[in-house]
Amino acid sequence: MALRFFNTYSRKVEDFHARDDRKVDMYTCGPTVYSRAHIGNFRAYIFEDLLQRHLEARGFEVHRVMNITDVDDKTIRGAREAKVPLERFTQQFKDAFFDDAEKLRIKRADEYPSATDQRYVDKMIAMISALISKGLAYQADDKSVYYRIKKFPNYGKLAHFNLDELQSTGRVKHDEYDKEHIGDFALWKAWDEDDGDVKWNSPWGPGRPGWHIECSAMATAILGDQIDIHCGGVDNIFPHHEAEIAQSEGVTGKKFVNYWLHCAHLLVDGQKMAKSLGNFYTVPDVIAKGYTGHEIRYALMRVHYRTQLNFTWDGMKEARESLGRIDDWLERLRELAVENGRDAALRRPRTSQRNVPTQFEDALDDDLNISAALGFLFETIRETNRAMDENKLDAKQAGAWLSWWERINATLDFESAETELPGEVKQLAEARMQARLAKDFRKSDELRDKLNALGWEARDTKDGQKITRRAGAK
Ligand code: AMP
Ligand code: ZN
Repeated sequence: MALRFFNTYSRKVEDFHARDDRKVDMYTCGPTVYSRAHIGNFRAYIFEDLLQRHLEARGFEVHRVMNITDVDDKTIRGAREAKVPLERFTQQFKDAFFDDAEKLRIKRADEYPSATDQRYVDKMIAMISALISKGLAYQADDKSVYYRIKKFPNYGKLAHFNLDELQSTGRVKHDEYDKEHIGDFALWKAWDEDDGDVKWNSPWGPGRPGWHIECSAMATAILGDQIDIHCGGVDNIFPHHEAEIAQSEGVTGKKFVNYWLHCAHLLVDGQKMAKSLGNFYTVPDVIAKGYTGHEIRYALMRVHYRTQLNFTWDGMKEARESLGRIDDWLERLRELAVENGRDAALRRPRTSQRNVPTQFEDALDDDLNISAALGFLFETIRETNRAMDENKLDAKQAGAWLSWWERINATLDFESAETELPGEVKQLAEARMQARLAKDFRKSDELRDKLNALGWEARDTKDGQKITRRAGAK
C-alpha cells in the first residue's frame, strides 16, 4: 500500500509524494514557553514523533523543525508577574520541555528556532514589509500592523469556512475597532506599557511580532518557501495555520505546505486538556504517580492521532500491562535464542530477514493506523508465545522475531530501560542486590516482596538481577 495521510487542506486521505524522492521537510508548531507543557501538548509531539519515525522507516530522510514561541502575551505577562526578564522566565520552561520530551523518547528535531532570535525577527519584519507593499497588510491607527484577510482569496481554505461566515457568526470578538475586518490579525503589535522592555525596532515603530508571523518566518527561513508536511494539534488549524498560509503564500506566491496533518485532542473527562481549564497533568505529575516516561509514551501513542483520546489512570495501567507483555515476550525470545547455543538475535544481520511480516509498517502507511499496527504486534506476541509454550519455535525463529522487533521498535521505542525505573523501585532493587552480595537471602526475599507489592518483579539471571514489571500488576 502506498503511504498516505489525511490532509486537512483537502479533507481527504491522499497518497504521499515528497517533493524530493528521499527527503521530507517537516515543520511542527512547538511549545509556548510560559509554563510547563502538559501531556495534552505532548500528545501532539508524540504523534509527530511517530510520523517522523515512520517516514524514516520508509527510507526518507526527515528534516524537522520545531519552533519555540518565547514571546507572546502570555510569556510577557508571566515574566512581568515573576518580575524577571522575559529570557530568564522562558528559559526554565524551555529546559523543562526538553527534559520531558527526552523522558518520552521524542526524537530531537533538527532545529529549534526561537521566535526572539534576531535573525528570525528580521525575517518577520521583511515578510511584513513585503505584505504591506502588496496591499495584503496595513498599519492601523493603533500603530499595529494587520493582515488584510479580504485581499487573500484563499483565506479560510484550510479551516473550510468563508469570510462572510466569520463576520456573521461573530466567532471573533469585534473589540479591536482599528481593524478593517474583524478577522484581520496582528502581524506586528505596537509596543505598549504592559510590554515593559520587550520590544524590537521596526519600520512601524517599536513593538513585537504576532504569533502567526513567527511560524511563517521561521518555517520559510529554515526550510524554504515550500515544505512537505506541517503539523500541530487541531486547535492550531484556525486561526494559526490559516494565518500561516495567508502570510507565507502572500509573500512568496507559492504553495506553502503540501500536507497539513493535525492531531485530535487529549481529553480529561470529555474536555480538552488545557492550561486554561486547569484539568491538566504534566510529565512530572504522571511520573510522581509511579509511571515511567515510556509508559506515558505508550498511553499517548496507542490511539489513532485523529481520534480523541481520554486520559485516565486506567489507561496508564493498561500502558504498563501492555509494555510488560512486550518485555516478557522479548525476554522469552532472548532466552530461547541464547539457550540453544547460538545467539541468533545478535548474529542475524538485519538485511537477511526474509519472510518477516510487513503488516506493522503497512498499517502505519495507512494514515498512521497505530491501532492496527499494535493489534498486529500483540497478535504476533500471542502466537509466538503459544508456539514457545508448545516448543514449536526454534532459536533461529526466535532470532528472526527479535530482529523484527528491533526494526519496529525503531519506530515505537517502547522497550523498557532499567534507568527508567521509578526512584523507589530503583532503591529497593539496589538494596536487594547488596543483600544478595552479602548473602542475606532473607532480606533479599523481603525486598523482592516489597518490589512485588509495587508491581515489579526481581529475577536473578546469569547477567545479574533483572527488574521487570509484574504481568498484570496494577
Ligand atoms: P501551545 O503551547 O498551546 O501552543 O500548544 C502546543 C501544541 O500542543 C499545539 O500543537 C497544540 O495544538 C497542541 N495541544 C494543546 N492542547 C492539546 C491537547 N489537549 N491535546 C492534543 N494537543 C494539544
Ligand atoms: Zn506555529
